Amino acid sequence: MTIFEKIIAREIAAEILHEDALCIAIHDVAPSAPTHILIIPKIALPRISASTVEDIPLLGHLLLTASTIGQHYAPDGFRIVINNGSDAGESVPHLHIHVLGGRPLTWPPG
Ligand code: AMP
Repeated sequence: MTIFEKIIAREIAAEILHEDALCIAIHDVAPSAPTHILIIPKIALPRISASTVEDIPLLGHLLLTASTIGQHYAPDGFRIVINNGSDAGESVPHLHIHVLGGRPLTWPPG
């Protein structure tokens, strides 16, 4: 069971910024920007590369939720990131979308 499953099951405390039938949103515990929020599906899909055509409605919902959260918490602009696999720095094998903002973000990322 990953840390995110434990948060969803309320076994580990976290401030839940948003919750609906499909996902939650929480602050990242080690923020990389003034706004750093994670959109986490309730089902334990390990990563985006493990998704299939059946996940299209869920993936659309996660992206729209990330947009809504980004507009609310980082109205001057935000970046949506999904880390997939070791080269990308994936550290929790439970799909999540990072929403980053609150300062100018450089490009390309490191
Ligand atoms: P990733 O590297 O894309 O797998 O992202 C995992 C993210 O989860 C990292 O940015 C961590 O800081 C974050 N994280 C790990 N544990 C927690 C936690 N208990 N609450 C909130 N964020 C967490």
